[in-house]
Amino acid sequence: MNQLAVTSTGVFWSGHEFDHWRREYEKRRSDLQQCGSRYAHENIQAVGRKEAGRFTMMLHRIANGIITEAVENGCTVIAFEELTGIRDRLSGASWGHEWAFERLYEYVEYKVEMYGITVGQVDPENTSRRCSTCGFTHPDNRDGESFECLKCGYRNHADYNAVAGLRPAGSKVA
Ligand SMILES: [Zn+2]
Repeated sequence: MNQLAVTSTGVFWSGHEFDHWRREYEKRRSDLQQCGSRYAHENIQAVGRKEAGRFTMMLHRIANGIITEAVENGCTVIAFEELTGIRDRLSGASWGHEWAFERLYEYVEYKVEMYGITVGQVDPENTSRRCSTCGFTHPDNRDGESFECLKCGYRNHADYNAVAGLRPAGSKVA
């Protein structure tokens, strides 16, 4: 969850900027809520529109970055972790990240059509345990964000390994 997006080409988009602005708008809203006036109520709605606008812009920027990365590397597939899986793992988390993932997926799916790139979702459970180099699958291969294969010793960022492991024969995956 520290990364909003990771590609198998090694590019990361941090979630820090997203979290920063989410907290910022949350604070503005709660300040206004304490006023309770009609003016404050209208302002809360304005803050909400501003927030949605900023997040939408941010996600379009990330979507464009992912697509640029895929096009420049001649990728034919862009794989996302299954949104249902993300939702399960985020139960108790705020709507923010779930919303962000759904929008990001939609933007990428919509924008890549013209490049002939396929967008798909993958099960994060097994891919996060499977070594992308030798195929050995074991829960102990993964320790938080780091992946180290118990069999062949391959080491990388766990999210990177998961996406790299999806590469079908003869094609590249972003
Ligand atoms: Zn291995």
